[in-house]
Amino acid sequence: MSNSRILNFVDGQFVEGAPGAFFENRNPCDNSVISLVSEADKATVDRAVDAARRALNGPWGKMAVAERAEILHKVADGITRRFEEFLEAECLDTGKPKSLARHIDIPRGAANFKIFADLVKNVATEAFQMPTPDGTGALNYSVRKPKGVIGVICPWNLPLLLMTWKVGPAMACGNAVIVKPSEETPTTATLLGEVMNEAGVPPGVYNVVHGFGPGSAGEFITTHKGVNAITFTGETRTGAAIIKASADQIRPVSLELGGKNPAIVFADCDLDKAIEGTTRSAFANCGQVCLGTERVYVERPIFDRFVARLKAAAEGLKVGVPADAASNMGPLISKEHQGKVLGYYQTAKDLGATVVTGGGRPAMDGALADGAWVEPTIWTGLGDDSAIMREEIFGPCCHVSPFDSEDEVIARANDTDYGLCASIWTESTSRAHRVAAQMETGLVWINSWFLRDLRTPFGGAKRSGIGREGGVHSLEFYTELSNICVKL
Ligand code: NAD
Repeated sequence: MSNSRILNFVDGQFVEGAPGAFFENRNPCDNSVISLVSEADKATVDRAVDAARRALNGPWGKMAVAERAEILHKVADGITRRFEEFLEAECLDTGKPKSLARHIDIPRGAANFKIFADLVKNVATEAFQMPTPDGTGALNYSVRKPKGVIGVICPWNLPLLLMTWKVGPAMACGNAVIVKPSEETPTTATLLGEVMNEAGVPPGVYNVVHGFGPGSAGEFITTHKGVNAITFTGETRTGAAIIKASADQIRPVSLELGGKNPAIVFADCDLDKAIEGTTRSAFANCGQVCLGTERVYVERPIFDRFVARLKAAAEGLKVGVPADAASNMGPLISKEHQGKVLGYYQTAKDLGATVVTGGGRPAMDGALADGAWVEPTIWTGLGDDSAIMREEIFGPCCHVSPFDSEDEVIARANDTDYGLCASIWTESTSRAHRVAAQMETGLVWINSWFLRDLRTPFGGAKRSGIGREGGVHSLEFYTELSNICVKL
């Protein structure tokens, strides 16, 4: 068993939560214990909220925007300076290939601080002149104020990236944060505490409390009267619990939730691009991406060719440990999640799906045999109403169905409770725009996937979330806009 201990970060210091209460953080590659994590009790969360409030009433609240922005640049530089440490920690917690985290998770984690620091300095607010009966007129202008203490509750699939995507804009807008990383991936959020201290972030601005959801740190944050807003990324069911917990205080929530995202592949697509993009969207990060494709609709004339080529691409993926430079697929996050995904693999068989490839666990040697590995999997032959087509699986798998007309595929793609994103593959410009505008999703990609400009709105429709973040939309959530009317 590892002796490494992960503590909570409160008021600029690493502290133990509930005395003696530690939970295990396990390596998904072999199920060994990486570290013991101190679980925050209610008193620890209270201390974090008090420290956040003191920071808001003290140095952080009084700091000029330009100075705050400079500190956030130092935070980003601090992550970059300790890049290899962050990379090692993220890959140990998640099992994901270092090649992936080196290009996405860690650099984007740093970029989230710079982008929002720069944005806050440059976004204007509105002003209106109005006539008055006495002829002197009045002037209205608005100012942005921080919302206060923001609870940031995070998932495990892109731990540093998705956490900083919230913490970057929240801090840039002058708020203080209480972060609860997923119990599966506690390490990089904790390491970031050291970087915050090195960068000169005042104590209490960035706090990290560890634990679980109900009856633990997650619930202590969402029910805390001193928390002014909650931003959450995770499962739709958890999002519903967070709305309920926030209802009594009429507290704003921003929810980025699950998806069951379609890809629509027209016969006039560039097939090479469509295969490359769909291979990534279905299998990257072992399929554990909220934006991942689990439903693929392919126009009938190219259906057989598409399935054969996607099969070849899936079979070309190399499953392996993070340090293996040739590996492009790690394990799932945990044995528990492996059980859930393998349950869906069994359901697909029971429902009579054709298993084009995969459908089980890969054979792994030695200690790795106890890891959370699953095979990349492709099915065909199921109806749109099957559980495989309606429920978010969150594994490296997709179902491919043929379609015959544009209207038919638009209706089928939209026939879901979720509305996060869609990908459209076609070389016809007018078709691309026509179909994109009809997707009931927060995001649509045409001939691409996961191409993100952080200035653009991000979020889901239907049961995939409430609100948009990104660019000025993040400012809308993380600030309170106050109109000041001056009678002249
Ligand atoms: P999850 O909902 O199980 O957990 C997310 C976080 O919420 C964890 O920190 C957990 O401890 C906490 N939590 C759980 N119950 C809680 C409660 N009652 N009160 C307060 N906190 C609680 O999600 P997960 O399994 O970590 O992540 C996978 C899910 O996240 C998938 O559904 C995926 O689609 C979704 N996701 C969405 C986006 C997006 O941007 N829309 C991005 C990434 C992941």
